[in-house]
Formats: sequence, structure tokens, C-alpha cells
Amino acid sequence: MAYMLEGRTGAWEVVVGLEIHAQIISESKLFSGASATYGGAPNAHVSFVDAGFPGMLPVINKECVAQAVRTGLGLKAEINLFSRFDRKNYFYADLPNGYQISQFAHPIVGTGQVEIELQDGTLKQIGITRLHLEQDAGKSMHDQHASKSVIDLNRAGVALMEIVSEPDIRSPEEAGAYLRKIRQIVRYLATCDGNMEEGSMRADVNVSVRKPGEPFRTRCEIKNVNSVRFVMHAVEAEALRQIDVWESGGEVVQETRLYDPSRGETRSMRSKEDAHDYRYFPEPDLLPLILEQDWVDQLKASLPELPDEKRERFCRDYNIPFYDAGVLVAEQATADFYETVAKGRDGKLAANWITGDFFAAMNRTGKSIDNPPASAAAMGELLDLIADKTINGRIAKDVFEAMVETGKMPAAIVEEKGLRQVTDTGAIDEAVAKVLAANQDKVAEYKAGKEKLFGFFVGQVMKAMAGKGNPAIVNEAVKKQLG
Ligand code: ADP
Ligand code: MG
Repeated sequence: MAYMLEGRTGAWEVVVGLEIHAQIISESKLFSGASATYGGAPNAHVSFVDAGFPGMLPVINKECVAQAVRTGLGLKAEINLFSRFDRKNYFYADLPNGYQISQFAHPIVGTGQVEIELQDGTLKQIGITRLHLEQDAGKSMHDQHASKSVIDLNRAGVALMEIVSEPDIRSPEEAGAYLRKIRQIVRYLATCDGNMEEGSMRADVNVSVRKPGEPFRTRCEIKNVNSVRFVMHAVEAEALRQIDVWESGGEVVQETRLYDPSRGETRSMRSKEDAHDYRYFPEPDLLPLILEQDWVDQLKASLPELPDEKRERFCRDYNIPFYDAGVLVAEQATADFYETVAKGRDGKLAANWITGDFFAAMNRTGKSIDNPPASAAAMGELLDLIADKTINGRIAKDVFEAMVETGKMPAAIVEEKGLRQVTDTGAIDEAVAKVLAANQDKVAEYKAGKEKLFGFFVGQVMKAMAGKGNPAIVNEAVKKQLG
């Protein structure tokens, strides 16, 4: 696979750090009892706290704190038993308080680490700088009324985690792999649904370029990029732009930029000169957040198995290659499906079927792992029919297609269509004899040294037996009668 920037950066190295906003899965908001559900009628999930009514006081939601801790543990990060909320002051129409409650000086989660897999299969560690809790803002909509903007505060006050990476990322591909990995981890943990289309996960992308070995140069921050693909393209476009600026004798200035997917370029939003002064100060309406180590330990003990560990266990328990295991654990539901099929069976065969015919059928039918083209029980039964030699691998493909088409179980299909493998050596010998008799010329060529023809004879016998011959016995019989 080619790299997006391959051969286009000259002597320049690309440096990237990501700030990911991930909406926390919880019943209610970070500081109020209003529902945190996505959607709903505009302003249906708004309490007086979220609407910024005077005198309303925030009350911390313990489940949101637990979710942030779980995520921190999943990022192999330090959990800070002491953290604190700060006010970040700025005016925005969909921020009724005139400030956002965030964590600035004392985040709940400190440094951690995430492993990504590069295109060539090597692994790389990306440092996590911090994870902090903050409130989301509401949504302004400018397309609902001819002359007015309207505001929906349903999202106002919903809990967000901001996950900040170290500037360890060196290419668009690494940025994409990192974002996918974070999404995979939070989905496994069920702390964020990772749904970038609905905006429950979005990334600010910091990009700079330098000559290898130099200190970091000035970076630009591309705000609110909302898909993995766009993050990769934003890095690509911004790196090329900066290289161009430096090469033509100019200087990159620190600024906030926007990525425009329709043009594939970034453009300036605001420069550092008019950067915000947020006037952070400790949030006076909330006490510092003090966690007990016991509670953190309990959360840790109840974490699900995470993708990296699952991948290693799959390699060990089912004896499958690291690559296959990576494909299978990409989503928890796929991993569970695989495990149901593979348990007590040939793990490699199960992996081949699921990543091969099964995934292909899923794509073709537009189905998903939650509504699969064939159930795990049916896939297991199919593998059993292969293992006990009721059918051969070739016929299994036809049985599988019939399963997808009819929803029937494989054993029933085999009986109904008479697809049982023929292991009766008498019947096989007879078919071989007929094929050889009908192809005397080729038999002569074979005997004169054209050994390639062996496969032809086997193929003809299989064809004569409608694919149902046991391949090993057919091979044996052809060999015997020829030689
Ligand atoms: P700020 O406090 O201004 O947001 P941070 O130091 O917290 O700045 O960095 C924010 C993000 O920018 C982090 O993800 C970090 O990795 C990234 N970053 C910092 N310096 C650079 C750089 N020179 N090039 C690319 N990314 C950078
Ligand atoms: Mg920042």
C-alpha cells in the first residue's frame, strides 16, 4: 500500500498530535440530571443547570467520572486521585453560562500509552499526555429559519473526555491508525460510542513539519475534523502547505485552521493574535474531585478484555496469525462472533471462513455482525460438517451460499440437496476409470512425462461426481489407476 505523502515531503518530517473529544456514554449529563441521549426534540433534554439559569449549581455525575477513569485505565494511563475543575471563560451563543467547566491544571487522567500498528505490520507506541473531563456545548443551527439562528441545548452539558496525544505521530496513516485505535478502545470499554458521523467523537489535529533531528517547529491546529479519512487528508494537506511555506522562504504562523473536505485543503480560521484568553480559574461551585484508590481498583478489576489483549489471546488460544487476530478483534461483536464459532473447533479454519466468505457475504448483502448473513451457530455447524468429513471444502462454499440465501442450517441443506461427500472407494474408483477411459490421449501424455495433467484428471473426476468426492481419496485413486 502506498503512503499518502510518499515522495512528496522532500527532506521534511511530519509531526502530528491529536486532541480527541469523545462524548461519554451515560444516562445523564456531567453536572445535571437531564438526559444525555443523542437526538430528541430540540431542547427536550435541558435542565436549568444546562440552560445557565442564575443560581443553579452543578452536581458531579459519578458515572461520568467512572467512565473517564475506565478510559484512562484502557489507555494504560495514570489515574490522578486528585483532580479539579476549572472555568474556561468565553462567549458563544450555544454556551449559555458564558463559560465551560473543564479541567485545566489538574486533569483526572495523566500520561498513558496507546499501541498502533503501521502498514508494514510493525507496532509503535503513541504517548497520551492527558485525558480530562469537560462539558459539551449546545448546537446553533443556521438553516432552520430565514432570518434567525436557533439553538438546541440538548447537547449542552453532556460529558466529554478530551484525550490529548503527545506529538508522536509522523504520517497521515499513523494519525488514522491512532484515531481508529482510540475509537476501538472506547468502544470496547463502552465509554463512548465513537460515532464520528453523529459528532460523538471528533478530533483537533495539530500539524507541524521539521527537518529530522531539529526541534519541533510551529504547529497549526485544524479544528473539529469528523472522520478518520478527513483526519488523514487534513494532515496531508496541511503538511504540504507548511512545507511549501518554509521552502518558499516564509514562516508558518501558529493558528487555528479548518479542513474543507470538498477542496481537500485547510484554511485559516483565526490566528494567534486574536487567540482566546480563557481566564481559567478554579470552578468555585465544585469541590476538587478526590477518588479513592479502592474505587479505581474496582473499576480496573471490572474492565472488559481490551483489543490488544484479546488479539494476543486469540493468537495463543486459537493458533491464528497476528494479522488475522487483528482483523477479528477490530470490533468486539466480531471478536465474540469468531469466538463462538472457533471454540472447540479448528481456530484457523474458523478465522479463514469468517474473514473470507463470511465477511464477503456481509458486504454483499449489506448486513452487519449484529444481524449477520449466517448465525454463529450455523457457521459452527458448517465447520463441524467439514471436520467430520460430511462435506468437503469445495461443497462447503455452496452450502454457505445456500445458508446466506435461505437462512437454513447447513446440515439441513446438505441433506436436502444430497451434498454429502462420497468416501465410498468403489464409487470413486468407478468415476476415475471412466474419466481415464474417456481421455486416453491425455493419459498417454501424462505417462510420457506431462505430470501437470494429474490435476486435470482430479478435476474431471470431481466434476463427474458433482464436486462431492472426498479430495484425498480421489487423489489416491487417480494416482493408483495412472501408475
Ligand atoms: P495547547 O495547550 O496550546 O493546546 P499543547 O501543548 O497542549 O498545546 O498541545 C496540544 C496538542 O498539540 C497536543 O496533541 C500536542 O501533541 C500537539 N503538539 C504540540 N506541539 C506540536 C508540534 N510542534 N507539532 C505538532 N503537534 C504538536
Ligand atoms: Mg489545546
